[in-house]
Amino acid sequence: MPFNPETLYLASGVSRCTFLVIFLATVFSQPDERCLRHWLVALAASAAGSLCMALSPSYPIAPLPLWLVTTTLFFASLTLSWSGLRIFYQRRVNAGALVLISVTPAVLLSALSWLNAPEAIKLSTVFFMTSVMTALAVAEIFRPPRKRILSQYVVALAFGVYFLALFIPLVMLITGAMSVEMMVSGQAAIMADQVLCILIYFGFIAMTGERSSIELKRLSETDQLTGLANRRAVQGILKQQNAHWGGPISSVIIIDLDHFKSVNDRLGHDAGDSVLKDFSRHLRAITRQQDMPVRWGGEEFLLLLPDTRLEEAAVMAERLRHRVATTPFLSGQHTLNVTISLGVAERASADKNDFASMLQNADEALYRAKHEGRNRVCRYDAALGTPLSNEA
Ligand code: GH3
Ligand code: MG
Ligand code: MG
Repeated sequence: MPFNPETLYLASGVSRCTFLVIFLATVFSQPDERCLRHWLVALAASAAGSLCMALSPSYPIAPLPLWLVTTTLFFASLTLSWSGLRIFYQRRVNAGALVLISVTPAVLLSALSWLNAPEAIKLSTVFFMTSVMTALAVAEIFRPPRKRILSQYVVALAFGVYFLALFIPLVMLITGAMSVEMMVSGQAAIMADQVLCILIYFGFIAMTGERSSIELKRLSETDQLTGLANRRAVQGILKQQNAHWGGPISSVIIIDLDHFKSVNDRLGHDAGDSVLKDFSRHLRAITRQQDMPVRWGGEEFLLLLPDTRLEEAAVMAERLRHRVATTPFLSGQHTLNVTISLGVAERASADKNDFASMLQNADEALYRAKHEGRNRVCRYDAALGTPLSNEA
């Protein structure tokens, strides 16, 4: 089906202008995402480039100044897409360098025209630089540390296809397999550009949206004071037992700070907060990679232990108790001696979802530890159906 390039460029320019409306709304709704502003200007530049191409005679008939303007607009669009990606991944961006990169093709084209270089050389220079920019965008996405964001791969794929769509014709032009006229009027290329443009710009919006929702989930599952996982995080893990931190939970330690209310009463709430933070550091220090320390609420903590037998869990609990009891806590000028009571229980059945009864057993053991005078570990003996002192 024959379409003239001007019509296709007009359609391309108009559709980019439509995306601009969505992008503007996204930029206003997420003012902290600086990358979106780069991508917005990138989109505006490519829309202007497409409209310029639609409203003017195509290259090589187009006069040089017009060709320089459109080349700069398209190249600025690619440069800003790349810089937006750098900002998205918290990498540094130099505004001067961006301007310099954006105008380089136009400067080079002017120089080549002044030198009366053949059209093929001019065109291949532009294609080469453009393909480098698309390759840079792909590299930015794959550079470590890589984030677990699905939509970034859609954008990487689109830039990858762009790269091939530029690089293959470039090689063909250099080897003489393709003429300059064939390259500039390729309908398939203009149509592919429209599809890739949709993938890239919606991909950009999806990337920021995906990252925000991941961050929101992380915040909602983290205790603000101690940075430990909170009750909601445990509920999430119980919902999907193949959790990222290991296999099914097989033992749990529940920990309660002794006479913590008196710390608040004597030294104030801030001192109490500082003790909670220091304690969470001790808790982290004794946990293995697969374990999960949790602030269960107030001055109560959990340690979830996958693939751990009761005896092993009791040893860890005793190690934590000893560590806390023998390390003075500092709060301002005050030195405090803090002790904890701990209850340990093992999952009684093979049922992966039997967390609630394991926790209840650990709680009974904790109650016994408090009752026996605090600063001690008690464990729940499933065979006897009762909590026991650790020494028993
Ligand atoms: P026990 O040995 O029986 O556990 O006595 P306790 O004083 O530790 O227990 P109690 O339940 O009577 O008091 C817990 C206190 O923990 C009361 C509450 O004000 C304090 N608390 C809970 N959350 C926070 C917090 O985030 N910061 C501070 N500073 N205190 C907290
Ligand atoms: Mg307490
Ligand atoms: Mg308590």
